[in-house]
Amino acid sequence: MTETSSKANHHGKGRNCVITRRACFSSSHHYWLPEFSADDNAAHFGACAIAPGHGHNYELIVSMAGELDSDGMVLNLSEVKSSIRSEVTDQLDFRFLNDAWPEFDLTKDEGCLATTEALARIIWNRLKPHLPLVALRLYEHPRLWADYLGNAMDAYVTIRTHFAAAHRLAKDELSQEENEKLYGKCARPNGHGHNYLIDVTVRGSINKRTGMVCDLSALQCLVEDLVVEPFDHTNLNKDIPYFKTCVPTAENIALHIADRLSKPIKAIGANLHKIRLQESPNNAAEVYAETPKLEAIPDMLETVATN
Ligand SMILES: [Zn+2]
Ligand SMILES: [Zn+2]
Repeated sequence: MTETSSKANHHGKGRNCVITRRACFSSSHHYWLPEFSADDNAAHFGACAIAPGHGHNYELIVSMAGELDSDGMVLNLSEVKSSIRSEVTDQLDFRFLNDAWPEFDLTKDEGCLATTEALARIIWNRLKPHLPLVALRLYEHPRLWADYLGNAMDAYVTIRTHFAAAHRLAKDELSQEENEKLYGKCARPNGHGHNYLIDVTVRGSINKRTGMVCDLSALQCLVEDLVVEPFDHTNLNKDIPYFKTCVPTAENIALHIADRLSKPIKAIGANLHKIRLQESPNNAAEVYAETPKLEAIPDMLETVATN
């Protein structure tokens, strides 16, 4: 047997790889803590407290890692599908989450609200004995998702929003010709615009009762008040004082958004982990805001996440 054919017959056995699998389910839930009055439930949970509940089309992304077997696979995909089906989707699809799993039974002291981050953690706990998980992402909505990496109560929650703004890439200290050489068409004298997408990722500890890393509506208000409202339909160079002296590249806009949000997010009990600013379908900037920088959410989740 030649060396080439011996390697070919090896089928990659022993080499490491990460694989991901996506699964969908539709479930309903109701945010209602029996120890709260009706007014307190409404004040804390807004429309999520309206009886008898509401539903979402959830999308689950499961990342697993391991060595390839002699068949060239980390795991046989039919085993992956069958574990996700039996442990998660068969139990949750078209079900009321508050009743489906005892972890979400709010009549018990240990029950918690079926938030995206709490659900991601419980799904992890139930899948872990069956699959070599490394990361798990759960979308409640294309603009709200949670990542869980198996670290006790620690979870990441991301909200996505957008604004439209004009800008021009040019430094005052350079001539028009020098700016165009540096920034190309982006330096044209009258500017141009983008529909910016912003993903704000916070990290925190899941509260045992509310299932939340922080008050989601408070987080949404901060992003709206400190970023979207001041930036939307503006000329960033002229209307945002910071960009009068700092060139508003996607990188600088992402950094400035992180600067604006970091402390206020701390004040609502979470940590700003990452800002991702997508300027166009072809370019995006990401800023990791925690110091010291924590391990980034694994890239394998990002690859299936955006779009
Ligand atoms: Zn909901
Ligand atoms: Zn631009």
